[in-house]
Amino acid sequence: MTDILERIRSFEKTKDFFIGIDSDGCVFDSMGVKHKECFCPAFINVMNLQGVSDAAREVWEFVNLFSKTRGINRFKALILSLDFLREHPEVKKRGVEVPRMDALREWTERESALGMSGLLREIDEHPHPDLLQARDWSEEVNLAVGRIVRNLAPFPAVPDALKQMVRHADTMVVSQTPVANIEHEWKENGIHDYVQTIAGQEMGSKAFHLKTAAYERYEPSSILMIGDAPGDYSAAQEIGALFYPIIPGGEETAWRRFVDEALPAFLDGKYRGEYEKSLLDDFHRSLPSTPHGIIHDF
Ligand SMILES: [Mg+2]
Repeated sequence: MTDILERIRSFEKTKDFFIGIDSDGCVFDSMGVKHKECFCPAFINVMNLQGVSDAAREVWEFVNLFSKTRGINRFKALILSLDFLREHPEVKKRGVEVPRMDALREWTERESALGMSGLLREIDEHPHPDLLQARDWSEEVNLAVGRIVRNLAPFPAVPDALKQMVRHADTMVVSQTPVANIEHEWKENGIHDYVQTIAGQEMGSKAFHLKTAAYERYEPSSILMIGDAPGDYSAAQEIGALFYPIIPGGEETAWRRFVDEALPAFLDGKYRGEYEKSLLDDFHRSLPSTPHGIIHDF
């Protein structure tokens, strides 16, 4: 933990501008394959939801892809999905028991670095069955990601956007994915050298990454976070930074607009205010907060 944290603590300021970049669903079109092929099958298997697998899939995809919680930490996503699933009409009709995971819930509310190493430490002290089940699920997800997720490419406009950014700004990946996975994906695609540091799940929350590397080191209007999820936006808000949304479903357009319009506005000090607000309005409209009216009969 300490060595890895040191990587963001030692982030070196070399320019006047800072840009934090989310990876999954923002740089890479990876959210669909990860959630549909890796997270969700493990959710159904390890949480014993075979009897309501369609409902489980609907809820998992809603929470992780198509709503305001898109991109949240996996353990928080697990709890939220189970909570929604318990309310799903199909589940009520069939009387299937959905785990409550109260010990995991308690841990996620107390702990800030919600990664596997933190969970394993917690298990050493309190080996509660909920925590063991969450560990088994998370391990199954990691194995599936290792086995299935490959050949991912960045959205086509991303390499050019990165090239433009680094001419004027210090850059860092700000993500909740394990660092090893991000490093592998960025290296595989030859874009690793465009960022100074990769901050992942093991180094705390996205807000913590931004606070550690950028807050009070750059002017608030010179710090920009780029992301595809509301969690990216709130991380930016926590330090008073600017936010550029990569709108789910319109990623390529968003990246082209970044190069043509948003990056120049940011560098000219014309980003905050009306311009940012119109982008944020589009972003918030694209993601609902509850499954009512989205999932059938909910
Ligand atoms: Mg993302």
